[in-house]
Amino acid sequence: MTYQYWNEQLETISRKELEAWQLAKLKETVGRSLRTPFYQKRLTESGIKSPDDIKSLEDLKRIPFTTKNDLRDGFPYGFLSIPRDEVVRLHASSGTTGTPTTIYFSRDDLKQWASFMARCIYGTGCTRADVFQNMISYGLFTGGLGFHAGAEEVGMLVIPSGSGNTARQFRLMQDFGTTAVHATPSFLLHVESKMKEEGVKRESLLLKRAFAGAEPYSEDTRKRIEGLLNIEVFNSYGLSEMNGPGVAFECQCKNGLHIWEDGYIAEIIDPETLENVTGDGRGELVITILCREATPILRYRTRDLTGFIPDNCPCGRTHRRLYRITGRSDDMLIINGVNVFPSQIEEVIMAINEVGNNYVIEIEKEGVLDRLTVKTEIKPENFMDDTRPLNALKEKIRRQIQASITINPRVELNEAGSLPVSEGKAVRVKDLRPKDL
Ligand code: AMP
Ligand code: ZN
Repeated sequence: MTYQYWNEQLETISRKELEAWQLAKLKETVGRSLRTPFYQKRLTESGIKSPDDIKSLEDLKRIPFTTKNDLRDGFPYGFLSIPRDEVVRLHASSGTTGTPTTIYFSRDDLKQWASFMARCIYGTGCTRADVFQNMISYGLFTGGLGFHAGAEEVGMLVIPSGSGNTARQFRLMQDFGTTAVHATPSFLLHVESKMKEEGVKRESLLLKRAFAGAEPYSEDTRKRIEGLLNIEVFNSYGLSEMNGPGVAFECQCKNGLHIWEDGYIAEIIDPETLENVTGDGRGELVITILCREATPILRYRTRDLTGFIPDNCPCGRTHRRLYRITGRSDDMLIINGVNVFPSQIEEVIMAINEVGNNYVIEIEKEGVLDRLTVKTEIKPENFMDDTRPLNALKEKIRRQIQASITINPRVELNEAGSLPVSEGKAVRVKDLRPKDL
């Protein structure tokens, strides 16, 4: 396979040169941070008074972590390091947990972001000949404008369709010959079921690739989408605090997400002890952004759980790869004392052929115990009046979930299309237990 690089020199830079680059950028970033009210206080308290106090990459560990709460406390301008009139845009997080946080960009920051995004998109094999339909919400959410700018930078024809309205999405795909799309994995599954419903023939579309991110999904879900739509799906990772998409992305090898280490210093920590995890151990991803002047953020606790893949990628890029994100250090459910990640349940049910595209996990109290209910949709061809096969299927799902998470769930089968669909991030866990018991 031949691989294409957007910026070959930077993407295949030697580790030694990369580390020298990171150190220089880190010093610059610390210098800028000292101009923000928040870090002026935080860094001075830790004995860092000037960029010269950072002598090696090891010195990064002297810098305290920054949390989402810090960003909220610093609202609105506590993290701004340039004059207000040099700011040209702001974005805010979708507020996965609690109230949104705000990030500011200078003109140069937007350029850098677009070039990281172009690197991601081009690295999947796309070129200026592609037609790109951005089926994600525009606005304060970074997925819309972030991908938009990167795709334009590559020179693709960009259709800023936004999310929702599948009938219109199909029309646009057919009218303009869309070859690549960006969406959440749940929306891609929804698109596929709507295709059937609206009688859109796969042959009428030129789709080749999809970029899917913004929420965790399993390898089985990726394979399912690829099979259903006959496309290649690339995992896209980012968060608004770190610009948005363009932080880590899969290359044509699709075996982990290259995190762009010339723009971001990545660490993995144990979320309990906050110690750095070495080697290929899993833990929480912590990121320092090196490619933004307006809002520097140092050692940000993403809460996303992943780890570094140890070996080199066949594509020749030297930037390390992250494992698919399996969940957050703060979305773990404790059900009757057992720790459960929603992604574990997803992995089980999505590997079962009869199960449809949507599901909901509910936890409630039944007496003193927690009760887990997994509601899944069943593919139309597997839904029937005869209850015997359905009961057998229900039992199969129940057994497999129990084997994976040790908890015995109640399983509910639903007709395809009957569970609520969200166009943005899917809300799939409903924790109905009273909070103050
Ligand atoms: P936001 O700041 O609203 O863009 O949300 C960012 C969060 O979405 C991240 O911290 C992750 O928890 C989640 N996320 C984004 N992309 C992915 C992905 N590819 N896989 C898993 N989770 C993701
Ligand atoms: Zn690669």
